[in-house]
Amino acid sequence: MGNFVVFDLEMNQGYKPYVFRYQGVEQTLRGEIIQIGAARVDGEFRVLESFSLTLKPRIFRKLHHHVAKVTGLTQQDINRGLSMEEGLERFLRWCGEDAVLLEWGMDDVPVLKQNLVLLGMDENFPAKWYDLQQMVAEQFPPQADEKMNLEAVVQRMGLVGERPFHDALCDVLYTCEVAQKLDIPRAFRNYPSEESQLYESLSRKGEIHDFSLFHGHVDAMDWRNDPAICRGSCPLCGGELEPDELWLKLASNSYYSLCRCRECRREVFLLFKLSRRDGLHWSFARATRLADEDSSAKWNKEKKAALQRKNRKEEAEKA
Ligand SMILES: [Zn+2]
Repeated sequence: MGNFVVFDLEMNQGYKPYVFRYQGVEQTLRGEIIQIGAARVDGEFRVLESFSLTLKPRIFRKLHHHVAKVTGLTQQDINRGLSMEEGLERFLRWCGEDAVLLEWGMDDVPVLKQNLVLLGMDENFPAKWYDLQQMVAEQFPPQADEKMNLEAVVQRMGLVGERPFHDALCDVLYTCEVAQKLDIPRAFRNYPSEESQLYESLSRKGEIHDFSLFHGHVDAMDWRNDPAICRGSCPLCGGELEPDELWLKLASNSYYSLCRCRECRREVFLLFKLSRRDGLHWSFARATRLADEDSSAKWNKEKKAALQRKNRKEEAEKA
């Protein structure tokens, strides 16, 4: 068993969005960390030692009223907090470089990495992390109206104690108690890789071909602009696919276009699914699917509607 750290962040929000540049590309700050809670655990998620601190934000200095209400923190609490730099340095040192982080949900690692970037610190930490919420959802699937937030799951499992929720360390301790209910070897075995998740997402609605994955792109639009990515090949003859000038939304972070093969003239869909697990770098999954009469008609109908919307918008802007 490695150096496993369960962690949780509370973050402040701005009254206005904050935009910064990462490797030349604009990013919107998801939140500024004001509290860190963490626990080093053994292979059964028993707590070996814990860590907790409050930070003084530099960007969103005024505590957002919603954050105050949820966390119970006050403006005075965060004003007395450690500087961001010192706090994050302490946290990274306490974790150790080899730490594997475990969080509830997928939000905290991206926020941590964004905050490290803003301080000029090493955003490659953590190199490896897992979402315990997904592991729990797989082994204890929620019923129709059941929620998967930590509080709801703790209640369902009968683990509610004296501790409040939305205090970083208290949430970590609850998360450990929930994780103790897992078949832990199975949870790690079944944990989906980014690749398998993207494949599953693209193949959900029918057979796909030529699945490819492109990693590490900072610019979200590279999938459309980089010729090495945006051009697929025909699953029948290998000919180059010529995408329509229009890309339509297929699902969340997913787009598709109807192409024609330059060689055999067959209609083929080019599909993309985008994901940004670390909050800084995009992965683009690409695949093709043969079009048939129904899917081709559906595409043309959606395209027509999209063009009408575009025209109406342009006219409204002119008026
Ligand atoms: Zn072809």
